[in-house]
Amino acid sequence: MMELRHDGYGQNPAETRTASRERKKRGMETGRRMKAAVVKETSPGERRVALVPDAVARLQPAGIDVLVESGAGDGAWLSDAAYADAGASIVSAAEIYRTADVILTVTRPQPEAVSELRAGQAVIGMLAPLADPEFAAALADRGVTVISLDGLPRTLSRAQPMDALTSQSNVAGYKAVLVAAGEFGRFFPLLITAAGTARPAKVLVLGTGVAGLQAIGTARRLGAVVSGYDIRPTSKDEVTSLGATFVELTSVGSAAGEGGYARELTAEERQAQQEELTGHIARQDVVITTAQVPGRKPPLLVTEDAVKAMAPGSVIVDMAASAFGGNVTGSVPGETSVTGNGVTIVGAENLAATVPTAASNAYSRNISALLLHLTSDGALAIDTSDQIQAGVVIAHDGRVVHQGVAGLLQRVEGDAGVDGTAD
Ligand code: NAD
Repeated sequence: MMELRHDGYGQNPAETRTASRERKKRGMETGRRMKAAVVKETSPGERRVALVPDAVARLQPAGIDVLVESGAGDGAWLSDAAYADAGASIVSAAEIYRTADVILTVTRPQPEAVSELRAGQAVIGMLAPLADPEFAAALADRGVTVISLDGLPRTLSRAQPMDALTSQSNVAGYKAVLVAAGEFGRFFPLLITAAGTARPAKVLVLGTGVAGLQAIGTARRLGAVVSGYDIRPTSKDEVTSLGATFVELTSVGSAAGEGGYARELTAEERQAQQEELTGHIARQDVVITTAQVPGRKPPLLVTEDAVKAMAPGSVIVDMAASAFGGNVTGSVPGETSVTGNGVTIVGAENLAATVPTAASNAYSRNISALLLHLTSDGALAIDTSDQIQAGVVIAHDGRVVHQGVAGLLQRVEGDAGVDGTAD
């Protein structure tokens, strides 16, 4: 059975050490050096930074010099001085766009930054090319190499140190529990005091992938009585090993899909699942939902009836809330609302960015590991016959080379041909 690494950013020791010795040797032989630049994130609420100071010294032996935009680490309490002490050059955004070979980001650069990028430069980040293939196409047209960590083949053991989806989901799953505890009007643990006994909170986690398992662990550490549910049967052991109860539905079977992910349910399965879950949800104080199906609208797990069945004071945190919908009826990303029957619904949005130092530390390890993997002789060595590169390299040499993204673009062009419009 495939091993699931919950931390997602641990090093793969022997492999990483040998590869790094090789790179160091090659970099020293040619003397060629790459300028990798860290820009200040500009998306609203984004406080993470792509590299932390510790990474600078790790990249240098491979022929990579680090430039940091002044103030890039401020949101994560990492000062310019800390980067400079580690050996980075602190520069302006203009200098980065003029001189850098590789630009490292957490999320997608804003449109104004995109127009600064030039042919021959590369951008590496969590660029969500499947959600917006046109973005990758626009950069390809400019001759920019696009590399996205969200395309990483996550089940490959040598790719695990680069798995930013996992590291950021871990952070988000932890924070979701703290958000729920903050909204909840009672304690999570059993407390016996002179002023009375407080019974522990009952927490149900729906979707027990990376974020869900971290949420279960965190809620357990806070002393709650926790249960978890997932459509993938393999998650049962993971849930119970964390000391939580696994909820088994009798009306819906397993829905394991490709690559260990869940498949989309049929309309009948969806309805059966929602109805049976409603009974479980009604008995909870807190529900945290994390269910996703890659590339699809998140499944609705907590219906209006389920919310109505909960007691006043209950809390739901929907980690799947997005512009495309979420796991909970009525959740809106970035908004907290209270229903008529007194249930607080939190539409969680980019929770990892709200734990910025931990999230940046982990992300920095992920993106450094990927950059080192892609670098040879102080330059990017793009080779999509490599399994990792085939997943992450989206555009190169003026073309969208990633099959999935290219397929989506073809479909968009095909639709435009039929309709006669580009929309
Ligand atoms: P995700 O964020 O895409 O989804 C979260 C969870 O929601 C998943 O566990 C999924 O099964 C569940 N889900 C989807 N539809 C559901 C429904 N209708 N009802 C209930 N649950 C539903 O997933 P993730 O956390 O990024 O990754 C989960 C999968 O990826 C697992 O299979 C895991 O083993 C695999 N993975 C493997 C590795 C590795 O091998 N290194 C690393 C990361 C993830």
